[in-house]
Parts: sequence; C-alpha cells; structure tokens
Amino acid sequence: MKKLVILGGGTAGTMMAAKMRQQLDPWSWRIQVVDRDNRHLYQPGLLFLPFGTYTHRHLHKPRSRFMPDGVELVLGEVDRIEPEENRIRFADGTRLPYDQLIVATGSRIVPEETEGLTGEGWGRSAFDFYTVEGATALRDTLAGFRGGRVVVNLVDMPVKCPVAPLEFLFLADAFFTERGVRDDVELVYATSLDAAFTKKRCSDALTGLIESRGIELAPSFMLEKVDGENRVMHSYDDRTIDYDLLVSVPLHRGSPVIARSGLGDELDFVPTDRHTLRAEAWENVWVLGDATNLPSSKAGSVAHFQAEVLTENLLAAISGLEPPAAFDGHANCFIETGHGKAILIDFNYDTEPLPGRFPVPGVGPFTLLEESEANHWGKMAFRWAYWNLLLKGADLSSIGPSMSMAGKWS
Ligand SMILES: Cc1cc2nc3c(=O)[nH]c(=O)nc-3n(C[C@H](O)[C@H](O)[C@H](O)COP(=O)(O)OP(=O)(O)OC[C@H]3O[C@@H](n4cnc5c(N)ncnc54)[C@H](O)[C@@H]3O)c2cc1C
Repeated sequence: MKKLVILGGGTAGTMMAAKMRQQLDPWSWRIQVVDRDNRHLYQPGLLFLPFGTYTHRHLHKPRSRFMPDGVELVLGEVDRIEPEENRIRFADGTRLPYDQLIVATGSRIVPEETEGLTGEGWGRSAFDFYTVEGATALRDTLAGFRGGRVVVNLVDMPVKCPVAPLEFLFLADAFFTERGVRDDVELVYATSLDAAFTKKRCSDALTGLIESRGIELAPSFMLEKVDGENRVMHSYDDRTIDYDLLVSVPLHRGSPVIARSGLGDELDFVPTDRHTLRAEAWENVWVLGDATNLPSSKAGSVAHFQAEVLTENLLAAISGLEPPAAFDGHANCFIETGHGKAILIDFNYDTEPLPGRFPVPGVGPFTLLEESEANHWGKMAFRWAYWNLLLKGADLSSIGPSMSMAGKWS
C-alpha cells in the first residue's frame, strides 16, 4: 500500500486530506495527516476577538472532527523532513515514511525579530492579534481603553491576510464610535508598503475609506526598533511614531521544521513551482497554503483554490503523468470596513482587483471593490462555510480555482 502524508492539519492540510480521500482508492492509498495537536484554530476569527464579536468558543474545534473516514490524524511535533529518505522525523526520534508528501505547515509571526517589540510594554501597550494570546490580551485592553493614540503597524510583507491590519483599523473606528469615545482616539496606520495595500486599484479605494474614517496613513514606514518604555517606533530612515497602544502585525516566517529540513528560503518558505505547486527541489513533495514562497496572498481562500489545483496535479503525478493544472494566484478576500459593511476583492497573479459583481456575474450578491452590507454578511457567513464546507473538501463549483473575468469591468 502506498502512503500520502500531509504535514500540517490546518486550513490547507485538512481540505487537502478530504479532497484526496474522495479521489484515491482506499485499498491502494493510505492517507495520514500530521499535526502537533488536536486543536484547529479558525484564524480569521482572531480579527473579531479583540472587539468581543467572537469569543474563544467560536475559534476552536478538534482537528479529528474534520478527518474523514480513511484519513488518520497522527499527533506529534515534527522535527524535520528527510526528503532523500522519503520520510519525516518526529521530535521523539520516530519516523514516518511517505510516497508522496504535501507540506502544509503554514506561517507564524516572529515579533522577537524586531528590536524592542517584545521588550518593555509587550502585552500591556503593544500587542499582536495574530495569536490567540495576543488577541485575547488586546481584547482585555480595548475593553478599558478610553482614549489615546492607537497605531496599527504592518512591519513588513509577507504576512497572512494582508488586509487584516486595515480591517482592524476599520473595526476599531466602529468600536470606538459605538462606545462614544471616537473623538478621543487617534487612529494611525503605519505600514512598510508605499500605499494602503499592495494592489494599486484596491489601494486607491481603501485610501478613500481610510481618509473618510479619519485614519492617518503613514506609508513606507520601515520599522527598525520599538522603544517600549517611551512608546515610540523608530524607522530606518529616522522617522518616529509615538503611540499609546501599538497593534503590531509582526514579521512572518515559515515553520521552523522547514528551516531544520534545509527546504526553505531565507524566510523559511518552501520554493514552489508557482503553477504546479510542486516543491522545486523534490518530485514527490508538494506545497500548499502559507508554507509556499509564492507571491500569492497567504490566505485560506488561496489555500482552497490551490487545493483544487493540487488534487488534479497529484492524481496525475501518481499516474505517471505531467501535472496538468496551473494555479493562477487566485485570491478572494472580504475586507471588513466596520459599521456592518465590507468590500470584496478578487484577483490573481496578473490581474488586479476589479469592480463588478460576484459570484454571479452582473447579479452578485457581493459587490467587488465597493462597500456593501451583503459583503459583510458574506464575511460573517464565512465561519460557517469554513467549518461546514471548506474543511470538508466540498466542491464550490460556483467559485472555480481560476479567477474569472465574468461580471467584472475595468
Ligand atoms: C488575523 C487573521 C485573519 C485572517 N483572515 C483571513 C480571511 O478573512 N480570509 C482568509 O482566506 N484567510 C484569512 N487568514 C489567513 C488564513 O488563516 C491562513 O492563510 C490559513 O490558515 C493558512 O492555512 P495553512 O494550512 O497554510 O496554515 P495553518 O492553518 O496555519 O496550518 C499549519 C499547520 O501546520 C502545523 N505545523 C507546523 N509546524 C509543525 C510541526 N513542526 N509539527 C507538527 N505540526 C506542525 C501547525 O500546527 C498548523 O496546524 C487570516 C489569518 C489571520 C492570522
């Protein structure tokens, strides 16, 4: 019997296990998903935790609940991949062989790599919201915050869900408005990007919104260090930004297992073919989700589109054929803008987000590059869709893996 091992039972790995189990003959192929624990975190929910919209009970479910019949969940910390031996090695020294391997080990924040960020004030006046601990501590601080200067800082790309810092600002604007203290709060977005977002057209739309919400934009702010004692951020070009409350979206890296395996680039992401999703260095290793070094967004929606492409390619490779399917960088993100509205963007490697209607061309119900209540409800419904459709490998045939131009105008 042959073995498919999926390293990482997060968003990408879980979806992929379900899809491959639907396709591979259970008498010929054993499927194992490896993760360090049995606790699946719905990461998009971390955005809502600080504002009290979600609680911890909305964020976690056991991973085992999403493993279909015929998929084994193997729990353990993986020390490294040994691709020349076709096996992975756990921290306790035990080994797990594979015929085909999918690496879906995600990405993580490394705030300690920015000088001073995790020093004085970390967890009291400076926070992240990309971890459960960070988002929870921030929630407790926001609950008692009555006024001052709140700075959201994107330290540098790549980060998961690059629109999340903007969403945080829009939700903060609504949160402080509802509490009647908005006039006492300054909101600032300090970003390493030269504009509000990476894509020009979307950036222009977001800049208009930022201005209309009274949020100050500080672009091209390359953070060098944080002086937590005096609550000041210093950039490499000697600019300073002071804060009462710093909400950091810190530097990201791939999983340490990638570095230990010698499989990564300088940020521990795996060099991956941008179309086939095969690891550049190994024929029987494939990469999915945040773990790749691709220029696509690090987002669950991207992992979903990639999973459809990879299913086709892996099945072909197993049959001795060349991988036929090409991932086009398709990404699809709701951007929560507060006050019960959101924007939706849909783009790929080559095409910027365009205005239009989605997913039914000309109808919607979602509006591209334009705020609407329907988009907000789409974002809120995403949690249900995540647990009940996406993780179970459901075929969402109305939204294909390749970006469609239908219903869009330029
Ligand atoms: C605040 C926030 C908001 C977001 N909002 C959105 C959104 O609105 N829409 C969207 O599409 N995406 C959003 N995302 C991004 C999305 O959550 C990620 O892109 C997605 O989860 C990536 O899936 P993945 O499977 O690649 O990684 P993960 O889901 O992180 O899974 C990686 C898995 O690998 C395991 N692992 C790693 N190393 C080891 C090891 N050595 N041994 C054993 N196990 C290991 C980990 O335990 C983990 O379970 C958001 C993320 C954040 C943080």
